[in-house]
Formats: sequence, structure tokens, C-alpha cells
Amino acid sequence: MLKKIVIANRGEIALRVLRACRELGIKTVAIHSDADRDLKHVRLADDSVCIGPAAAAESYLNVPAIISAAEVCDAVAIHPGYGFLSENADFAERVEQSGFTFIGPKPETIRLMGDKITAIEAMKAAGVPTVPGSDGPLDDDDQRTLQLGREIGYPVIVKAAGGGGGRGMRVVHSETTLLGAISLTKAEAGAAFGNDTVYMEKFLENPRHIEFQVLADTHGNAIHLGERDCSMQRRHQKVVEEAPAPDITLEMRTEIGARCAEACRRIGYRGAGTFEFLYQDGEFYFIEMNTRVQVEHPVTEMVTGVDIVKEQLLIASGEPLRYVQQDVRLRGHAIECRINAEDPKNFMPSPGDITQLHVPGGPGIRVDTHIYNGYRVPPYYDSMIGKIISHGETRDSAIARMHGALSETVIDGIKTNIPLQIDIMSDSQFAAGGANIHYLEKKLGL
Ligand code: ADP
Repeated sequence: MLKKIVIANRGEIALRVLRACRELGIKTVAIHSDADRDLKHVRLADDSVCIGPAAAAESYLNVPAIISAAEVCDAVAIHPGYGFLSENADFAERVEQSGFTFIGPKPETIRLMGDKITAIEAMKAAGVPTVPGSDGPLDDDDQRTLQLGREIGYPVIVKAAGGGGGRGMRVVHSETTLLGAISLTKAEAGAAFGNDTVYMEKFLENPRHIEFQVLADTHGNAIHLGERDCSMQRRHQKVVEEAPAPDITLEMRTEIGARCAEACRRIGYRGAGTFEFLYQDGEFYFIEMNTRVQVEHPVTEMVTGVDIVKEQLLIASGEPLRYVQQDVRLRGHAIECRINAEDPKNFMPSPGDITQLHVPGGPGIRVDTHIYNGYRVPPYYDSMIGKIISHGETRDSAIARMHGALSETVIDGIKTNIPLQIDIMSDSQFAAGGANIHYLEKKLGL
């Protein structure tokens, strides 16, 4: 078992990792910025090191400082959480070259999946269904590109191979604007990602976002933990997630899940990961893989009983997976609401002092948060301050429990999106299940 690890993140996920470490008897080092001295996990960790000023570029993205902290504190591994350096192949490589274990996939796997074109190629080879498209980069042959567009059929979407965070994409509705859109996207991608390779695929007009969670060990074993529906989004940011996805049959889950697990075995995947799909008219289309733990991992934990972060730590320790596919059974339904420090009407961030806090409880309620009474939400980072997760025997009971939990939560001193989440839990379309990725923005009148 790993003896001591650095938690290279902040907020709720840093606390989540710390809790898993404590359960396994692993010692922890919290690295933090100047602005984050009072974070809960910093206080609870065995060691803590301030690695730089508030700006993430000088702290949570400061690779030499993080590696020095690991050296100084005699850690043996680094957990990157999500965001920050979690999908940075160069960071993973530096970590391993410095003699530490990176708690995640091998650097070359992160690189393979970080380039959307090579990721799609790898998935096709493994039998994972992908979006019909150019199957590779677009070149300078305009006639060929126009022909490709006709074959795929409009609308199409031009995407940067190195894109991320919803950037580097452009929807094209007709042939007349295709070439212009490609040169614009290329120029933007070159500037933003240092890679101007672009490709094209069919634009799906009303898809749902459905993703499969996988776990793979270093002994060639891989399983899937079923799927999540994350279609409630605003500006490509997930707002509510649930597991299982409404109306996905056991047959579909078994088939797509098995292909994801097979893809993991083929690419030598290691650790926890997520295959993201768009789902429309009964078909799944792979869009990208996330090579890290995700914000929404708890809904899968609630319905499978598998502790995903603990499994990440066990896999990084070299343990074989403790489950085979047949062990994975889904029980009931789980929903997660992200709680953000923001104005529920105009979505402006709302940092500040939490003057009063009452967290919800009761059967089937889990709260993952680092905030406490008197905590000051700093203005420098993502506005998510925690997650409420509900579990029930049925989807309806999970919604009812979430509604109750949101209503009894008190977070005074700052504004939060709880009113919006209550509104979603009371929405008849949400209650019906299976709304698509545009539903929330339409509801909000955006
Ligand atoms: P990123 O890495 O920037 O998150 P993704 O490839 O995951 O990019 O796409 C982000 C979002 O863009 C998707 O969740 C979806 O809303 C939209 N999108 C991407 N590809 C398509 C497509 N082929 N058709 C329709 N929407 C798409």
C-alpha cells in the first residue's frame, strides 16, 4: 500500500481524497496556495505545504513546487484530483520521472486520449461507437473537405484535436460557410492549444450526455460501473448528474459498458476513467475520454457501492481489482446537485464569508463539501463549493429526497445556486427523465 501521498488539488475533491486515504491508512500531504490555508483538508492532513500565491498558475499548476513538496515530505505518490494538472500528460511524466507514482493512467495514455483524433481512432479500433466524421485531421485539399462535408451531411461540427473545456468547436450549417469556419477554428486552436489540427464530425442536434465509468488495474483487468446522465448543463458545464441514466436498458448498458472495458484493456488503461458519449435516437456516439476522477463520481458510488477514489488508491498501489464485472449490480437511483457560490439569476460568482451553515441529512443523503461555518470562499477558483447527493430505491424517491435536502440547507453570507437546483427538482420535464443537453438553457431562457 502507498505510505504517503500528496493531494495536488483543493476544495471538496481534496477532502474526498483525504478521507479515502484515512480509511486505507495512507498518510497525506496537503499542498495549498496562500489563499487556501484554512481549507478543511489542509487542517486534517498529516503535513501541509504552502506552494505559492493565490493564482493557480503559481500554485496548483506549479509543477516544480508540487514535486518539491512531495520530496520534502517523503511522499511516494501524487493524486491530482480533477481539473488543474489532472489531465496534463507532461505533469504525469514529470511525477513518474521524479520517482513518484502518478495516481492515474500512464502519461502516454493521457496523451493518447488528450488528442481527440487519436482518442477516436483508439476507440474505433476497440469497437466503441463514434460520431460519423472525417476520421482524422482535415487537410488543405478543399475539394476533398467539401466532399467529406456532403457525405457526413449538415449540420457538421468542426473541432480542434487539442480542444477542451467546450472551446475550439464550431457548428456549420451549410457548405457555403464550411471552409471559412475551418480556417477560423484552426487559427483559434493554434493560438489557444498550440495545435491547429482540426477534424469534422456530424453535429447531433438533440443529444443527451451519457458517460460510462470504468476502473482498470495494472494486471490487465477492467470493468465498467454503469453510466451517468449529465444532460442538465449550462454552457457545457454540468449542473445535475444522475445514475443510472433514465431509459437506458440493461442490454444497452451491458453492451456499451463491455466495449468501454475492452477499450481499457486494449490501450493498457490504468485507474478510474470516463467514456463520454452523446446519445440520440437510441444510439451512443463516443466524444471523449476523461482520464481522471470526475466531479460526478458519487452518483455511481451510491448505486454500485464501489468507492471509486479508494479503488484509485488501491490500483496505484499495484493491487488487482477487487471486483469482476458480475459483482457490479446497480441498486436504486442517485442524483447529484452541484452547489455553486453564485447568483442563481445571473450566475455571477459570489465569494465571501459563510456566516451560517446547516448541511442536510437523513436517509439517502450524502454531502461532499469542504465548507464550514466561518469559512471564507475565495474569489480565485471555481465557484463549486460542494455537492449534495441523494439516493433512493427509485428515481422519484431520489428526487424527493434531493428536494427535501436542498430545502433544508442553509448557507448564509454568500449567494448559491440552491434556488435553481430546487427549481430543477420541481420541473416536470426533469421529473419525466431523459431531457437533452439543451433543455436547461432553454428553461432558463438562454
Ligand atoms: P470538450 O473537451 O471541450 O469538453 P467535447 O468533445 O467533450 O469537448 O464536447 C463538449 C460538448 O460539445 C458536448 O458535451 C456537446 O454538448 C457538444 N458537442 C461536441 N461534439 C458534438 C457533436 N458531434 N454534436 C453535437 N454536439 C456536440
